[in-house]
Amino acid sequence: VTRRPWTDEDQAKAEVAAACGVSFSAIGRMLGRSDTMVQRYLVPGTIGARREYSRRYYEQNAGRHRDYARSYRERNPETVHERVIQWRRKNPEAGRQYSRIYRAQNPEVVREQTKRWREQNREVHREQRRRRGALKRAARRCSLHPLTLATKIERFALWGDRCAYCGAAGTLTVDHVLALISGGMDEPDNIAPACGRCNSSKRQELAEQWFRRQPFFTTARWRKLRRHCPAATAGQPSLAIPAAQAP
Ligand SMILES: [Zn+2]
Repeated sequence: VTRRPWTDEDQAKAEVAAACGVSFSAIGRMLGRSDTMVQRYLVPGTIGARREYSRRYYEQNAGRHRDYARSYRERNPETVHERVIQWRRKNPEAGRQYSRIYRAQNPEVVREQTKRWREQNREVHREQRRRRGALKRAARRCSLHPLTLATKIERFALWGDRCAYCGAAGTLTVDHVLALISGGMDEPDNIAPACGRCNSSKRQELAEQWFRRQPFFTTARWRKLRRHCPAATAGQPSLAIPAAQAP
């Protein structure tokens, strides 16, 4: 007997069989379930019936339920905020995923919020910018082969003057595949052409992590990037290349 969830189809079959006078244990055998499970979903007042009742109730009252939830959030902002923080602490990856979707769907709101945050935290923001700039300058100073126009042209030609990530042609920017701020070097083999969109969306995230999430991700482009930019994955285990595909 498996623990897979009881579906609407199971419910329909069981109801028909029960109406024809088939015993719970026979229905259980037919559906591959225990007879107690069948009983639970067929006899009113037991778990399944209650669950079904609340499901229907929420379906029929979805609008009211939403309004209530909204007014609850408005009346208890602190409680809700506290719960969100707790939930995020328990589910960091799901939280990040949620934020990503939210940012993608509400770019204006996010831009406005960022602006407001910066206005309210001028000192913190200035300090962040100062540290980021200092790190980048330090990386440039440490570089053994400072980027010249010639190396830039050479590097961009490796990708046929197209964005190494999405393949777009047009105005390209210099992308440090492993971001300077994450310890990447200002060396030719850490440089790839990227369109402005990809470069500003990728920011300081690990190239692979960011790239795999993009709708235009292809294994071929990722392999090429790794081949030309060994720093892209230096010291990091590959995230999701199945063994059969690994070169
Ligand atoms: Zn691009």
